[in-house]
Amino acid sequence: MTIQQRQRAIQDKMAFISCVVPVYNEQDTIEPFFTELANRLRDITHRFEIIAIDDGSCDASLARLKAMPKEYQIKIISFSRNFGKEIALTAGLDHVSGELAILMDADFQHPTEVLPLFIEQWQQGYDMVYGVRKNRDSESKLKRGLARLFYWIMSKITKIDIPNNAGDFRLIDKKVIVALNGFQERARFMKGLYAWVGYRHIAVPFETHQRYAGKSGWGFSQLTELAITGITSFSDVPLRIWGIVGFVISVFSLIYAIYIVTVTLLYGTDLPGFPSIIVAVMFLGGIQLLSVGILGEYIARIFAEVKQRPKYLIAEQHGFDSVGP
Ligand code: UDP
Ligand code: MG
Repeated sequence: MTIQQRQRAIQDKMAFISCVVPVYNEQDTIEPFFTELANRLRDITHRFEIIAIDDGSCDASLARLKAMPKEYQIKIISFSRNFGKEIALTAGLDHVSGELAILMDADFQHPTEVLPLFIEQWQQGYDMVYGVRKNRDSESKLKRGLARLFYWIMSKITKIDIPNNAGDFRLIDKKVIVALNGFQERARFMKGLYAWVGYRHIAVPFETHQRYAGKSGWGFSQLTELAITGITSFSDVPLRIWGIVGFVISVFSLIYAIYIVTVTLLYGTDLPGFPSIIVAVMFLGGIQLLSVGILGEYIARIFAEVKQRPKYLIAEQHGFDSVGP
């Protein structure tokens, strides 16, 4: 769409907006959140859809979603089990029919007030408008520190540029949706994929709020898993670094060997070397295990990809005219 077409679509309230919202155990939030979201969208356009992905919730989330009024245009995809937020977003994007999609969380941490600002930027010709958190107060110091460390490592070992404090809260144009849907990889690190695809993008700062109800579905182990997925999907530095480490160690070993031979030839002494041998053996053993472990991490991911399993399984879906993929 040209900029003029985008502007006309919004002025005439004719743009078709798809809003993708992953939902996992959010029973107390669903009613207020989707009411607010639908009202916000109705102010902007007459043509919209909300695609709620129930990511295998074990509470009443699905029942509450189904009970929402028809005019809110909520379409529901319900997974056969919990597949995780990244896959929930993927499924949502597979099913959108809009000219643009907005991705947001269901827990009010992504404020709907920001949506008109996102759309203004889309009208200006931006294909991706992403929210950047002004504050991370709702998170612990440890979590913030680890997040900063992760982004720092990513910036050093990958070629993609992932903006700080940006998450999944974003607006994406149809062409970006098509590009993202073309990715076949199963281990999906969405923040990396958004950065990888490029296109014209712009940041919009927003204030995050405390979670409305319930608790975050991202524990320490899930976040660690996501971080490893991010690194292994976008960088081969962890694999290649061992070549350099091996080279450096070999050079030192050679120098040391020359030293030992020289000392033995000159002085004919038996060098007492037991502690240094133990240290060298332990050190090299540790390095070898570490490098084999990292190799294993990549092989496990190759294994997961070659199995070609479906990314997700849908148990039920409602509101779609045709049955999805
Ligand atoms: N979510 C999901 N699947 C999961 C965990 C979370 O679909 O396995 C959804 C959740 O319902 C919410 C969004 O993803 O709409 C963000 O989750 P959460 O608030 O737990 O993450 P945080 O805000 O702590 O990053
Ligand atoms: Mg949240």
